Amino acid sequence: MHTDASRPQLFRTVTSLRAFLLPWRRNGKRIGFVPTMGALHEGHLSLVRASKAENDCTVVSIYVNPTQFAPSEDFARYPRNLAGDLELLSKEGVEAVFAPDDTEMYPPGFNTWVEVRGVSEPLEGQCRPGHFRGVATVVVKLFNIVQPDVTYFGAKDYQQSLVVRQLIRDLNLPIELRVLPTVREPDGLAMSSRNSYLSPQARQKATVIWKSLKLAQELVEAGEKSPREVIRRMEEVILSAEGAMIDYVALVDPETLAPVEVILGPTLAAVAVRLEGTRLIDNMMLCPKG
Ligand code: AMP
Repeated sequence: MHTDASRPQLFRTVTSLRAFLLPWRRNGKRIGFVPTMGALHEGHLSLVRASKAENDCTVVSIYVNPTQFAPSEDFARYPRNLAGDLELLSKEGVEAVFAPDDTEMYPPGFNTWVEVRGVSEPLEGQCRPGHFRGVATVVVKLFNIVQPDVTYFGAKDYQQSLVVRQLIRDLNLPIELRVLPTVREPDGLAMSSRNSYLSPQARQKATVIWKSLKLAQELVEAGEKSPREVIRRMEEVILSAEGAMIDYVALVDPETLAPVEVILGPTLAAVAVRLEGTRLIDNMMLCPKG
């Protein structure tokens, strides 16, 4: 149990957060930063705990970034629960929460965008044009606002972590990136704020995603070398759930996200599935034996 809980300080403006962080930085304290869109769950909290363990001051941002949603997507109905989030974060002993509004982040006249090429283009980039431009832009803004020593991202959004790694390198940002494992429900479903959209029936069906990834792992460990065959078997599992729609099932190089021709080394299996209109993504690193 966490007994030293104290409410994190809540900042709504860039100026007030910077004023809070200045003495920490001046005193040589290590600042850890966890960017989120809120509706926090154990996946987010695993990142927060890592930051708490490794830094003097942990900043969590809670911001549903409008520029990473297409007009057709779920920006308006994305779950928001600041009071509940603050409750969870106070149990973790987080020092600061940054929850700006849209005019603080995108004031009138805002006109600069960060575009990462390459790793942002396949998979989610194909299905959600403009998504990673919004992500990269808000992440760079948040990094510049917080100026953390270390930042924490989840492997659940594997492609996003590659985009962030690329922009840290390319823009010479003095920030260490830590990518932590996906936290799952007992039945394997990756925790996600979007799981709350699922009806009990769809929630049950959503287990096919994890089952397809486990099957892929088993096939590859048993020596299967053909991505086509693994993908075919994964699709079979996913489509066994009535009404499931596949955006992609892909076996890709974990660095470039290019499709693999033959499974010879570590290969990322990445899946995007829609169930009753809710879009779920997941992935797993597949490692052939030996
Ligand atoms: P989000 O609030 O969905 O933008 O996620 C904020 C951060 O939490 C991102 O770095 C995500 O990859 C990470 N995250 C989301 N779900 C999980 C999960 N189930 N396990 C680990 N990290 C996660």
